[in-house]
Amino acid sequence: MTVNLLDLDAQGLVEFVTGAGQKPFRARQLLHWLHQGCVGEFAQMTDLAREFRDMLERDAVIRAPAVVSDSTAADGTRKWLLQVGTANAIETVFIPETDRGTLCISTQAGCALDCGFCSTGKQGFNRNLGLGEIIGQLWWAERTLRADACAAGDAQPGRMISNVVFMGMGEPLLNFDNVVSALRLMLDDHAYGLSRRRVTVSTSGIVPFIDRLAEACPVSLAVSLHAPTDALRDRIMPINRKYPLRDLMAACRRYLRHSPRDSIMFEYVMLAGVNDRDEDAQALVALLRDIPCKVNLIPFNPFPAADFARSSRDTIRHFAEQLTAAGLIATTRKTRGDDIDAACGQLAGRIEDRTRRVERLVRRESARVAGVPQ
Ligand code: SAH
Ligand code: SF4
Repeated sequence: MTVNLLDLDAQGLVEFVTGAGQKPFRARQLLHWLHQGCVGEFAQMTDLAREFRDMLERDAVIRAPAVVSDSTAADGTRKWLLQVGTANAIETVFIPETDRGTLCISTQAGCALDCGFCSTGKQGFNRNLGLGEIIGQLWWAERTLRADACAAGDAQPGRMISNVVFMGMGEPLLNFDNVVSALRLMLDDHAYGLSRRRVTVSTSGIVPFIDRLAEACPVSLAVSLHAPTDALRDRIMPINRKYPLRDLMAACRRYLRHSPRDSIMFEYVMLAGVNDRDEDAQALVALLRDIPCKVNLIPFNPFPAADFARSSRDTIRHFAEQLTAAGLIATTRKTRGDDIDAACGQLAGRIEDRTRRVERLVRRESARVAGVPQ
């Protein structure tokens, strides 16, 4: 059976090479080629013995999800639509800034949690992504960005992606094992070598898995709060009925015990007339008073059939001022890649149009592969 090497973590690679009668150090070599070099062809793995490479050509592949589309916005934000299975597509977004390059990745096709303001939630849940589909997004993006830098004349481009945020489609903590395997590859010095603080998992607040993440791999934690009271949060985020604010805040405090010098990032999407009133700001201040944190205000990204509208710029500024005046650190997220529908956290874009567009593109791509004229 053919093995996709991107589906294997470091231990999986050891088992694969020893199972093929090779010495375990070959796994380390493979790890370097795959996840440091972002190499996609066995022929380029020049320090591997010839017969080992022959075995790989025969029994293994390196396969990231296929690219359905690739678009770059005026501000440099780049979005890939990737095919995962016949009817599903996910999105990966690269956001270049002067001092960093951030990749926003997806963990599920769709999402079961049905937050009222989220177009991914409106799609419903399709399935969890496998390890190869999660780490494949980083592998693919890093490889492509490096190749483009080479083509633009940079003979030896360094690492292009310095930060990863799990803020694409899906709830990362509900695909826990694959997400943790991907995180470990991201942090592994023999693979991507990213620092723990430069990798952020965003969750809607799945309390038991916040604790498990703290034990397994305490990367930076972002929590989608979006409401300062249970009454409001129950309404816009159904998961709050299962894990109410008191439990969520307690989990955040426990998380910080594992990474005492860190703080939690609370995301707060600004919904006009819903959670952006003065009393909401005051309730938020009270809720967060004694927890080391930053608040990131996210202007709502509208989509067709959304029941919400974006708060005005003045309202967002006034809301931020109230938080700051009370001693909280509050920032407002810049909207990026608007012209290609790539704002991070709103990746499903215009969902009805997109679903049809994905189907069309996937159909066209399959026809092309099968040699059917279009
Ligand atoms: N499921 C995880 C991670 C993916 S969503 C979570 O909920 O945290 C990433 C972020 O984008 C979350 O904070 C989410 O609430 C936010 N988001 C979702 N829909 C949005 C929209 N229409 N406009 C702005 N932010 C949105
Ligand atoms: Fe799922 Fe996050 Fe969207 Fe809620 S905001 S539906 S948890 S992806």
